[in-house]
Amino acid sequence: RAVVDKFLCQRSSQMRDQQRTWQESPDGRKILEFRSSLPAYKEKEAILSAISRNQVLIISGETGCGKTTQVPQFILESEIELVRGAVCNIICTQPRRIAAISVSERVAFERGEKLGETVGYKVRLEGMQGRDTHLLFCTTGILLRRLLDDKKLKGITHIIVDEIHERGINEDFLLVVLKDLLAFRPELKLILMSATLDAELFSSYFNNASTMKIPGFTYPVRTQFLEDILEISGYRLTPDNQIDDYGPERIWKMNKQLPGKRKSQLSSALEDVLRAADFNYYSPQTSESLSCWNPDFIGFNLIQYILCNICEHERPGAILVFMIGWDDINALKEKLLTHPVLSDPNRVLLVMCHGSMDSLEQRLIFQEPEDGVRKIVLATNIAETSITINDIVFVIDCGKAKESSYDALNNTCCLLPTWISKVSVQQRRGRAGRVQPGECYHLYPRYVYDSFTEHQLPEILRMPLQSLCLQIKSLKLGSISEFLSRALQSPEILAVQNAIEYLKTIGALDENENLTILGRHLVVLPMEPKLGKMLIFGVIFNCLDPILTIVAGLTVRCPFLTPSDKKDLAQAAKSQFSHDYSDHLAIVRAYDSWKDAEIDNAGHEYCWKNFLSPQSMKVIEALRVEFLSLLKDIGLVDRNMSSCNAWSYDMYLIRAAICYGLYPGICSVVHKDKSFSLKTTDDGKVLLHSNSVNARESRIPYPWLVFNEKIKVNSVFLRDSTAVPDSVVLLFGGSISKGDTDGHLKMSGGYLEFFVKPAVAEMYQSIRKDLDRLIHS
Ligand code: ADP
Ligand code: MG
Repeated sequence: RAVVDKFLCQRSSQMRDQQRTWQESPDGRKILEFRSSLPAYKEKEAILSAISRNQVLIISGETGCGKTTQVPQFILESEIELVRGAVCNIICTQPRRIAAISVSERVAFERGEKLGETVGYKVRLEGMQGRDTHLLFCTTGILLRRLLDDKKLKGITHIIVDEIHERGINEDFLLVVLKDLLAFRPELKLILMSATLDAELFSSYFNNASTMKIPGFTYPVRTQFLEDILEISGYRLTPDNQIDDYGPERIWKMNKQLPGKRKSQLSSALEDVLRAADFNYYSPQTSESLSCWNPDFIGFNLIQYILCNICEHERPGAILVFMIGWDDINALKEKLLTHPVLSDPNRVLLVMCHGSMDSLEQRLIFQEPEDGVRKIVLATNIAETSITINDIVFVIDCGKAKESSYDALNNTCCLLPTWISKVSVQQRRGRAGRVQPGECYHLYPRYVYDSFTEHQLPEILRMPLQSLCLQIKSLKLGSISEFLSRALQSPEILAVQNAIEYLKTIGALDENENLTILGRHLVVLPMEPKLGKMLIFGVIFNCLDPILTIVAGLTVRCPFLTPSDKKDLAQAAKSQFSHDYSDHLAIVRAYDSWKDAEIDNAGHEYCWKNFLSPQSMKVIEALRVEFLSLLKDIGLVDRNMSSCNAWSYDMYLIRAAICYGLYPGICSVVHKDKSFSLKTTDDGKVLLHSNSVNARESRIPYPWLVFNEKIKVNSVFLRDSTAVPDSVVLLFGGSISKGDTDGHLKMSGGYLEFFVKPAVAEMYQSIRKDLDRLIHS
């Protein structure tokens, strides 16, 4: 003990000396100068003293004021200065991997170190940390995983949970766990940080914990809603005559003078103008216009028009465009690249900012363009709070973001573009006023904004809870319902019941809600339980190679690209992979062909020709490696197994694995004349998504389709599906009961029950019992 203490003491003094040397160096001083200009810096002493006095502290402050980069650094610096550097361990969680990486890079830079020394990061598939790392930025998921092996978080002195205002499902879950942990570890410090926040809610959750607000400063931002934009843009918006009928000035005046009852007049006028500007999603009844949604909509022409106007007439300053997702960012980029001004590299630096960009793209975002060149950043809502780009002066806000939601009643997931909350609008607008007075263009009328909700619904209230329930069980946190009732906001009882019911059906929980052996394996696999189940099947039935690709493929964004202007060509390219009546097998075929092309270094070209996303292919490749090594870690695959070539490619087995994982996601195929329809187990109507390979078939050779999820976009669609034969469903899908007649089928309440003659039933039941034993052993 004395030896260890002595070592830690020496190491701590070393750390202090290093820190002082850097702070006194010319580069160090320069950075300190920048840091001390941040609002958070002025609160440094107050923050540190509040942390030392309280176990829990809640810090809020405007985005960009220095919470994420400074607060963890203050703690680290002060601990080092107090010669406690070697025994302090700070973990700072981020909801997104990209933020964890970029912030850790920045903090290491500000400390004059290489990443992976005192400051490191860890996200899935990637990490940079070493023996000397004392400040670790990681995703919330990583910390939750660590809790599995290390319930008390031994050695950790400070936990900082960042961006709690986003109310992600993982963050809400983590807070319940940490709340319990604080009682066991009185010396552990918990700091919660957030942009705009309901400090009250969090404070009362942690027994009236102290709160602190970092006073922020932003320059004023001139806000323009759609009607204002139309006014300044005069009649040049589009050459369409309809605008002449409803002159922008008139609309502007009407908006000022005719509130309330006459607003519908404004609506119809606006509607026409919007049509002209390709906003054809819009309907004059305000309330309906918010719920009715044309997913294809994006006002590309208008955005291009505004961008062009800024580039030609406005003062210097970068532009940040908030789009919905990666698809429309790409589509807009393609459009802009055909524009004479916006595609000119001597005038415009066009960069993209989204959740799956690589580190090169990331650096481009922060890059300062040369004089006379204007930076345009096309971003998802990731640029709202997680990533601060310094030189933004103009913001264009489409007002929407993709939001996933879960309808417990129909057991259906939705991933739809929806209007953002007022808080998000404020955030987006605020991005324009960081360095000088800014401008913000909202691509929707003011009264549409008025109808936005104040906050977004927390994820725990709008997401399926299966993985969460599994985690609760694996951390031995007692009854699922009881645990969730202690959350900041508790989910619907029906949603919890559905999740538990599902976990029982797939065999992850037993009748008493205890984890089965299968369940214990599923917890360790960082994916949805159904995909984990598929992997395990792949191991047992020796068809892991294709299953690895399928599971990785379902984890990443769709590897098949369908640019809206080249839909037919893309479909044709995809059809060469789709002979199996299976979207899942199409992924396998595409990936394997890409791999073959990679051998000749022609992978990229291959993707380009075949409408595949090279990034997705690379991610699938990396995930396959990760999943395989996880399976080795839990002892399911032999350590020495270096390649997967030994695995079988038996189509029947692969279909069985897919069914085994995806059940109860199943529907029966009902053929009629030259087409077919689908019948689900809960009687809801479903269609195949137009991108599915099965959507182009007129006959499916098997009576069943299994699917990952139902997605609601106007109607309910199945995105990926695989056709499977009866025998597979009998063995790996629905349950078997004894009945009078053979082959009677009952589909209800989301599940499937076969009634067959007693002798047959007994035979199947005994085979299934053997299979179960195999899988649970
Ligand atoms: P907050 O968490 O309060 O939103 P941050 O700590 O993320 O603020 O950022 C503080 C400041 O540090 C920002 O204003 C930004 O200018 C600067 N900054 C952060 N990351 C980078 C980076 N990667 N490159 C350059 N500047 C950065
Ligand atoms: Mg931050």
